[in-house]
Amino acid sequence: MGGPGCGKGTQCKNMATKYGFCHVGLGQLLRQEAQRNTQRGRKIHDIMLQGLLVPTGTILDMISNAMLSRPESRGFLIDGFPRELRQAKEFERIVGRAPDIVIVFDCSMDTMVRRALRRGRVEHRADDCEQAIRQRLETYYTLCGPVLTFYQQKKLLCNVGAPCLPLTPLPKPTPQGNKTGHAVAHNLDLSGPVSHCVCWEIW
Ligand code: ADP
Repeated sequence: MGGPGCGKGTQCKNMATKYGFCHVGLGQLLRQEAQRNTQRGRKIHDIMLQGLLVPTGTILDMISNAMLSRPESRGFLIDGFPRELRQAKEFERIVGRAPDIVIVFDCSMDTMVRRALRRGRVEHRADDCEQAIRQRLETYYTLCGPVLTFYQQKKLLCNVGAPCLPLTPLPKPTPQGNKTGHAVAHNLDLSGPVSHCVCWEIW
């Protein structure tokens, strides 16, 4: 798990190679699907361009297909999942068990924005434009809190990333800041939310 540009795709590729796991990259699978000139492809394309979440049913179908097509694999790394609590619960219902570990890439918002904007220029990824990045961040910070709590209660969370020192002085908490759900993350003692809050304010 992690926000846009946090590096989860890159690190999942590295880990899959190193440990011989099958890498299920949802963003990549969805981009392939979005290129198809089908009703489903066009719908996925539009959703991704807006920075919103693709319906859970579609996501779970893709994960199931990817996992079932590699029964010999010694393990699966599902990259970019779950993004909301419903996905986490549905996954367990369908697969019949929880994941072994949930890795969260903690990254400051300014780093994520910088990387995603650069990726948009270099790789011409249509959803790496300012408006879609803004929406993806909003989606991530709004929906990730309950998922983190869910897995923290199961003791499955592993938080990766050094605490980010804020580059700007900490802003005073505002009512608006408190509404973002970061307080949930604070309770989880993750190292990032302080920087998330800072960057959220300066974004
Ligand atoms: P990022 O994490 O930088 O947004 P991804 O390539 O992982 O990039 O995902 C790109 C887009 O694909 C997301 O903005 C979203 O629209 C869709 N997507 C990826 N994973 C999921 C998921 N688990 N559930 C719903 N939509 C997803």
